[in-house]
Amino acid sequence: MIIILKKDADQKQVEGLLGWLRERHITPNVSTGERETLIGCIGDVAKMDIGLVQALSVVESVQRIQEPYKAANRKFHPEDSVIDCSGVKIGGGNFQVIAGPCSVESEEQLIGIAKSVKASGATMLRGGAFKPRTSPYAFQGLGQRGLEILLEAKKETSLPICTELMGFEHLPLFNDVDVIQIGARNMQNFDLLKEVGAQTKKPILLKRGMSATLQELLMSAEYIMASGNPNVMLCERGIRTFETAMRNTIDLTVIPVLKRLSHLPVVIDPSHATGYAHLVEPCAMGATAMGADALIIEVHNDPQRALCDGAQSLTPAMFDSMMGKVGAIRPHAWKRA
Ligand code: PEP
Ligand code: MN
Repeated sequence: MIIILKKDADQKQVEGLLGWLRERHITPNVSTGERETLIGCIGDVAKMDIGLVQALSVVESVQRIQEPYKAANRKFHPEDSVIDCSGVKIGGGNFQVIAGPCSVESEEQLIGIAKSVKASGATMLRGGAFKPRTSPYAFQGLGQRGLEILLEAKKETSLPICTELMGFEHLPLFNDVDVIQIGARNMQNFDLLKEVGAQTKKPILLKRGMSATLQELLMSAEYIMASGNPNVMLCERGIRTFETAMRNTIDLTVIPVLKRLSHLPVVIDPSHATGYAHLVEPCAMGATAMGADALIIEVHNDPQRALCDGAQSLTPAMFDSMMGKVGAIRPHAWKRA
């Protein structure tokens, strides 16, 4: 961290600042130039409130030179992390496609979709049992019964399952779930993040909040990792912008940016990111070409009658076509079944 002092900084106040830094086990190195005076700070500044320094009358500005996240930072972990999802590996050159309906609706629906996405090459099954819906009047998910149906589908197809956890009181129900999804709306539910960090080592699919910066996403990953669970995957699912032609704006730039900042795998969700089925295939292809480690795609046997997110759901036939094109882009990282 570098503190740039004001030109006419009062020497007594500067001394006070140096003392304050030393009290916090930070070693200040003062360099006085012709135009300005800088204080280089050596030590663990991660816990420091930069705003407090910034607010001092002698301070012109403060610049962090090290990111506030450590466990998620590629600087301290140069190798790609490979996340093992019950035998299905994501990251470090391993590419996977997670597919299934937005919500688990019935045993017949889920098992039918699971079999068809598996036949098209999906390697993991998704489906929400606990659903975060904008309207309290909308279908809220089947809850515990939904989890039981997911486990039935896993038994039938041997696909690992990925499903959303909304409240930590439900964690004991997730013992046989393979990947726990933390949804966009809960990305900054810090108590929930701490809980999935401390209570489990299961892989966590952490979705980016719809208005979250990448630093905020990485700090949320840091919460999980600092609490004890290193198995985190970062998921881009579209951000909210001024554009109204799509449900959200897909931010594929995150793939190279996050890979430079972090060693964690990057998963792209073109379904929520676009909101319309016809946009999913081109965005899935773009994400694959840009180096995503996995895709998560919503598929429904009858999108017109889906209880949630029908407009963005691919039919099994559309999914199969998409998989052919995606497979052609990454033939070495992944083989279609
Ligand atoms: C979902 O995956 O169905 C979902 C609700 O996602 P998000 O949290 O990204 O909106
Ligand atoms: Mn959905």
